[in-house]
Amino acid sequence: MAETIFSKIIRGEIPCHKLYEDDQVLAFLDINPLSPGHTLVIPKQAVARVDELTDDSAAAIGRVLPRLCRAVMKAVGCEDYNILQNNGAPAHQAVFHVHFHIIPKPGPDEGLGIGWPAQQLDNDAAKDVAERIRSHL
Ligand code: AMP
Repeated sequence: MAETIFSKIIRGEIPCHKLYEDDQVLAFLDINPLSPGHTLVIPKQAVARVDELTDDSAAAIGRVLPRLCRAVMKAVGCEDYNILQNNGAPAHQAVFHVHFHIIPKPGPDEGLGIGWPAQQLDNDAAKDVAERIRSHL
């Protein structure tokens, strides 16, 4: 995988406002926050997409994510937040190293805005896609 700016941050070659680090995970403030406390949580494993993570790396993020959410929300005095994780340029990924955004939602005009073009689930289509997904697990 091509080197990204996040590999340089992990190696300490580019500065960041570091919040947490262990042997598999790093968390730091986003340089262009959507709201105060906007945090990025990244694996040290350098892969672009969440489906490429090892189980171990994914588990390391999962272990610390709730604790980071609690700390961020307490620090900014906010209850509500989104976790965002983009995979692929069409899905708004700009840095091709896996990262989870923790984005406080202090009010309607701050934090993440979401387009949600929901449709009615079709039963036959659902059975078909569910069967195909299960066959790939
Ligand atoms: P995404 O669109 O999910 O790939 O988001 C990438 C995020 O990385 C954006 O929110 C950027 O503001 C953030 N970002 C890019 N470079 C840096 C950096 N040097 N330090 C902190 N955050 C960064």
